[in-house]
Amino acid sequence: MNFIQTRGIDISRPKTVTFSEAILAPIASFGGLYVPESLANLGSEFLDKHLNSSYKELAKDMLERFEIDIESDVIDDALALYDSFDDKNNPVPVVKVKENLYISELYHGPTRAFKDMALQPFGVVLSSIAQKRGENYLILAATSGDTGPAALETFKNRANVQVACLYPYGGTSDVQRLQMVTEDAKNLKVIGIHGVFDDAQNALKKLLANDDFNAELKSKNVSLSAANSVNFGRIIFQIIYHIHSYLELVRQDAISMGEKVYLNVPSGNFGNALGAYYASKMCLPVEKIIISSNENNVLTKLIKTGKYDLRGASVTGTTSPAMDILKSSNIERVLFDMFGDERTRELMQKLETENFYELNAKELEQLQTQFDADFCTGHEGSLYKRYFCE
Ligand SMILES: *Cc1c(COP(=O)(O)O)cnc(C)c1O
Repeated sequence: MNFIQTRGIDISRPKTVTFSEAILAPIASFGGLYVPESLANLGSEFLDKHLNSSYKELAKDMLERFEIDIESDVIDDALALYDSFDDKNNPVPVVKVKENLYISELYHGPTRAFKDMALQPFGVVLSSIAQKRGENYLILAATSGDTGPAALETFKNRANVQVACLYPYGGTSDVQRLQMVTEDAKNLKVIGIHGVFDDAQNALKKLLANDDFNAELKSKNVSLSAANSVNFGRIIFQIIYHIHSYLELVRQDAISMGEKVYLNVPSGNFGNALGAYYASKMCLPVEKIIISSNENNVLTKLIKTGKYDLRGASVTGTTSPAMDILKSSNIERVLFDMFGDERTRELMQKLETENFYELNAKELEQLQTQFDADFCTGHEGSLYKRYFCE
């Protein structure tokens, strides 16, 4: 399957690209992103078929439905990394908290961040494409704390890739910083910046889109790519665990097959939530995806009011730094899916020039058929408390 672009096409770029091309150069025309040309409608048969599958069997089949240009044995090597998670037979245990509330434990990988779910296999896939093409890649990563360690871990000592990782100095936990700066592979470079995550991500996006910088690297036989969730190579692996978790609930008799569920997704750059959205479009019976935020609640406001408003906004440092983000990149892919490329380009350009956009009433209604949202501050305690204990 080919990939198309969220903000339309400028003449310098091909209309569609392959999966490999989309992950090697993830920024599309006008600063947009790549998205699949269409999503396979897998239907309930897919869920029935995989009720007793292992995580890897489910993942393999799901990836095959995308018809990506990655060889089967490379995918097998990538998925084999789930064997090193805490439980070889189930990388994502789904655990009951109380009646009707279950948690999908996505933190059983090597760096203890859920980022491992996607970045572990992504590292194998990207490195193998680079080797096959005989190309060298400089992978840029901007992190608010969890992506950095997971990206460094997956790419360390892999052939044909180097990583430069930008993190907000003082903006991550000590554990996260140490996870990064103590990696000692030759192909990794970690850089603390004066600024917040959005500054790091802006710098990354600018470098990716900068023709001069790219040309200079090219002259040294190096190409540029990114390990952030703007990269569809990560998103594709984030669809799988939502389906797996649903099947786990069926296996545990918590729900019956076909029953709708609410997916509550803590969100920052909206990669995890986008995986849930794609999963629901492909096969999952989902009532709503509930987006949870901390004080940096731009997504709550967007989903409640249709306004994405960054005027005068600045990031508040919280105890959940992975969500201390104002420019949430992947919401763009939802906008595209719902409203098309022209409207997405219009909205995203408005955000860039005016720090603000507003959906019309009809668009907001459409967004709210799929999503709901709320946030809490560190003082209020958890959303869990508010929703489930009162
Ligand atoms: C990355 C991360 C998030 C945000 O996920 P997105 O996919 O960027 O929305 C939330 N919580 C934790 C612990 C994370 O590591």
